[in-house]
Amino acid sequence: MKSVTILGATGSVGTSTLDLIERAPDDFRVVALTANCDVAKLAAAARRTRAQRAVVADERCLPDLRAALADTDVEVAGGPDAVAETAAMGADWTMAAIVGCAGLKPVMAAIEQAGAVALANKEALVSAGDVMTAAVARHGATLLPVDSEHNAIFQCLEPANRERIRRVILTASGGPFRERSLYEMRAITPEQAVAHPNWSMGAKISVDSATMMNKGLELIEAKHLFALDPGQLDILVHRQSVIHSLVEYVDGSLLAQLGPPDMRVPIAHVLAWPDRMATPMAPLDLAAIGRLDFEAADMKRFPALALARAALEAGGARPAILNAANEVAVAAFLARKIGFLEIAAIVDDTLQSYDPGTPDSLDAVLDVDAGARRIAGETIEAKAA
Ligand code: NAD
Ligand code: MG
Repeated sequence: MKSVTILGATGSVGTSTLDLIERAPDDFRVVALTANCDVAKLAAAARRTRAQRAVVADERCLPDLRAALADTDVEVAGGPDAVAETAAMGADWTMAAIVGCAGLKPVMAAIEQAGAVALANKEALVSAGDVMTAAVARHGATLLPVDSEHNAIFQCLEPANRERIRRVILTASGGPFRERSLYEMRAITPEQAVAHPNWSMGAKISVDSATMMNKGLELIEAKHLFALDPGQLDILVHRQSVIHSLVEYVDGSLLAQLGPPDMRVPIAHVLAWPDRMATPMAPLDLAAIGRLDFEAADMKRFPALALARAALEAGGARPAILNAANEVAVAAFLARKIGFLEIAAIVDDTLQSYDPGTPDSLDAVLDVDAGARRIAGETIEAKAA
């Protein structure tokens, strides 16, 4: 029996993880579940799974959580420190599914326990990069890629031939505005941006998919997960989201992983890894799908991609700045403070006006993150004034 903790248990990835775990109650024991403030959903999940502990990151929500679980023996706690302490409880397997850099400290705490950490929370790795991979090596932890592209790459990697990889190609659906002109993109609303054609996801990653910043973050994520050079990483637009990514070897062979566009497939892979487990989805019907389309990504219409590519190549503090500014800009877009095209513009402004040295510790990464958030926030306020 595997003991599991889910950080971000009430979100899209967290809910898919719970679904798989609850279908196999003999295989998993839940140590802890965390959420930001969705008390009703968190308490219900803690009850159903007989979790040892339930935690809200927002301390103001703790009284409600306590009341909701008063008749159970589930321990409750609140606050960001409680989330990080919970990640350090030493579960065999931890799902890191908090959205944004808010998940960084808990992910690092889980890594320090030397267990298996299933990483959905790409922002944490984009920001902390080398600091996180060094901690993984130092503590002997195992980082398992949940993001569908990275999970596909993980499945296509031949351990004996790591030195024989020519290219890794991340596929991108192109998001809901794949065919829109820049002019048409000016008036996009949050409602339009969060309606993804192929995947059902949280609001932040849905907006990132629409700007294609998501694919940019994924390039940086892939560099760190698989120790690749930036020049080995490519993007290919593939609108059906059936091929989740490809690995090309020096002999010309391309290995791809295909599957239904349902996060339960990659989550099941890392949940059972190195074994395999059954999932409830209908098998992929390739005859019904009929064809697979590919096209090059357009960096002009999706400037976020070019910004992320530059941050990938520059390294240092650039990816953390890119990520923090993007988080602030996406939140402002969702709050209707800025337009869709201003998201990338604010990220660009922040990158140009902030140049700290390479962060070499968790605290240094958090400082860069805080500095970039402040600058991006000021830029947004100045635009609104
Ligand atoms: P979501 O918004 O649906 O869920 C986020 C979870 O994090 C929720 O449980 C929420 O309560 C919690 N949370 C939010 N803010 C928090 C904070 N400040 N402190 C602690 N907890 C907080 O997001 P999601 O779509 O499930 O995505 C989660 C992560 O997985 C993101 O990094 C995303 O990029 C990545 N990811 C998601 C998908 C997907 O299909 N949804 C696919 C690949 C990668
Ligand atoms: Mg992805």
